[in-house]
Amino acid sequence: MASKVHFTSFRCPGNESLVQKFRRLVLTAGLGEIDMKDKYVGIKLHFGEPGNLAYLRPQYARTLVEIVKEKGGKPFLVDCNTLYIGRRSNALDHLESAYENGFSPFQTGCHVIIGDGLKGDDEVAVPVRGAEYSKVAYIGRGVMDADVIISLTHFKAHEGTGFGGVLKNIGMGCGSRKGKGDMHEEEKPAVDVTECVGCGFCAENCAHHAITVEDTACIDSTKCMGCGRCIEMCPQKCIHPMDNRANEILSRKIAEYTAAVIQDKPSFHVSLACDISPYCDCYRINDAPIVEDIGMFASFDPVAMDQACADMVCAAKPLRNSLLYERGGATLGDHFRTLHPVTNWDACLEQGVKLGLGVREYEIVEME
Ligand code: SF4
Ligand code: SF4
Repeated sequence: MASKVHFTSFRCPGNESLVQKFRRLVLTAGLGEIDMKDKYVGIKLHFGEPGNLAYLRPQYARTLVEIVKEKGGKPFLVDCNTLYIGRRSNALDHLESAYENGFSPFQTGCHVIIGDGLKGDDEVAVPVRGAEYSKVAYIGRGVMDADVIISLTHFKAHEGTGFGGVLKNIGMGCGSRKGKGDMHEEEKPAVDVTECVGCGFCAENCAHHAITVEDTACIDSTKCMGCGRCIEMCPQKCIHPMDNRANEILSRKIAEYTAAVIQDKPSFHVSLACDISPYCDCYRINDAPIVEDIGMFASFDPVAMDQACADMVCAAKPLRNSLLYERGGATLGDHFRTLHPVTNWDACLEQGVKLGLGVREYEIVEME
């Protein structure tokens, strides 16, 4: 049976603001039906790497916070630390980044909790029912302590998974640093030294000091966490995962980590397809959007949500001033594979279906 995915565009022709429309959408889609009385409600989102401007505005989080409080719940914003270089790899830097980007208690009305603690190792080992790749997932304790999870996702393209949607936001985002390492394990790369020019850019961007460069770069696989950052940063495109199923397995593990988070608790999902950048929000820069802003989506089914968002983005014309246009011209099709040919987003949704997270068939319920 198809799942309902509630949708509305970003048009605001009357007196209703975008934030009011967002509120109406999530309530129409059933957020208010979840019992939140005296419950800890974790709102999982990405605070954006400082410098990147594609992340979601804090007003959307604030709206969810207000609804949770009206329902008697105790909301908090949550994300876990990252594996790569940047300003979100420990709780102190991560909190500062969140506040700098507008997610302070003054703006959103609730606190930020970095789910896997100061150094990213405060985790719960969660058995995943039906998992094939990650039978145990390492999830930030602050996430697992929540009674209810609401995902607030910025839908965009992604260099490792094709696109970053709900499953990516929850699965990768809620993994502790060990969990993220587990998901990326197969992505450990090697350098094609025949193409390497020894520029050192990869080493500068490796948070784990796994790369040394003399005439050419060399990766120490005992130190490498497989985060994939060097693969994307290399200007010569001469760093590749050693396992050719790496991206597929990454995508499947992300679905399994998502199951670890929501398999035993109520969850609700909201995605905004706007500022659809070609890369994830983890970089400190964002390139121009690849297609126009599409709209806001809300559903209880995370798989159907991701499928609906992907379909609508792929049906939109590439914007001329974009990386997508540069790589594929004006043609329609699978924009995510045009941008990032080795990715396999289908695998993530397929795995989500196998795990019972949802279905790929959906019915769009459009709200004016
Ligand atoms: S970024 Fe690429 S070209 Fe530069 S040193 Fe690293 S592997 Fe070689
Ligand atoms: S070598 Fe590359 S993939 Fe490995 S940890 Fe460093 S940046 Fe990440």
